[in-house]
Amino acid sequence: MFEREKRQVLDTALEIKRCGLVSLSGGNVSLRVGEGQYLVTPSGMIYEEMVPDDVCLIDDDCRVIEGERKPSSDASALVYMFQHLPVNAIIHTHQPWATACGFLTDELPDFLVTIMDACKNPVKVAPFTPSSAIGMGELAVEYTDDSLAVILKHHGVVTYGKDLEEALFAAVYLEESAKTFAIAKAMGAEIPALDPELIAKEKAGWETYGQ
Ligand SMILES: [Zn+2]
Repeated sequence: MFEREKRQVLDTALEIKRCGLVSLSGGNVSLRVGEGQYLVTPSGMIYEEMVPDDVCLIDDDCRVIEGERKPSSDASALVYMFQHLPVNAIIHTHQPWATACGFLTDELPDFLVTIMDACKNPVKVAPFTPSSAIGMGELAVEYTDDSLAVILKHHGVVTYGKDLEEALFAAVYLEESAKTFAIAKAMGAEIPALDPELIAKEKAGWETYGQ
């Protein structure tokens, strides 16, 4: 079942690896495919060595419906996020620039067009909680605040989307924005707050971006 969707999950996982957002088998990619049904990348597998059938189909209780592999150790947290947010795709990474910014600020503001467009709202930093536990999901939901991304302090990032592409754009552009933020701060720059009307205009333009 869901052969095309499994391929999309794997392609997204390979893309976050190519973009330097994870190393080895770090992070995970998941996709809602039906009522209480989710595709999740397997636990501890190197992405380049995966085939689509390694992607696990799990239910609301994290039971494997289809697949021979053990799902991501964050599966319970991911299912919690799917159950509490109106999203269809979740990407979890250990991207270094955004994670580093979690020590610089409690919120990455709407300061660049990329973060406005791809993350929709400022990105909050959630406090530390251990990985591979439902608490990670609870904090990721609590700190979302209508943004498509949350920084998990001492850990990494979670991004959301109506589909995998939207979650991918949020993760990649957040990383680029975080790098710019860190460089500007290191240079001693002040980053001024922008006019909310102009931010809204920028976001409206993004809706018609692309083909
Ligand atoms: Zn992690």
